Amino acid sequence: MSDCLFCRIVAGDVPSTRVHETERTFAFRDVTPQSPTHVLVVPKAHHADVGALSDADPALLADVLAAAVAVARSEGLDGGFRLVANTGADGGQTVSHVHVHVLGGRGMTWPPG
Ligand code: 5GP
Ligand code: ZN
Repeated sequence: MSDCLFCRIVAGDVPSTRVHETERTFAFRDVTPQSPTHVLVVPKAHHADVGALSDADPALLADVLAAAVAVARSEGLDGGFRLVANTGADGGQTVSHVHVHVLGGRGMTWPPG
């Protein structure tokens, strides 16, 4: 079994609330939501961060972003939304399987802090 949390979620070994799925992407609700809608979109294949994914499979990175937009639309975020890909220690990344946060349902402040 993988020791990567998000690989285990994709495999169904760790339960999650799925909101969207394609052949190569998976989206599920964040367990600690920071906004009324807070969904994580991941590639099913393991890549550590957005840089690694960009290098290895840029078409899959595009698929992840397209899935994030599909989630925002299906969640009804017509007033707008925020996509975030925390990367590395300074970026605040805590799970080393690339993921895009889809945040919305309230006005988002900037800068995020
Ligand atoms: P990061 O800090 O790496 O950008 O984001 C990781 C996200 O994963 C956090 O927002 C955190 O709440 C979420 N998370 C951590 N563990 C789990 C889990 O077991 N299930 C779900 N659904 N989300 C998780
Ligand atoms: Zn993984």
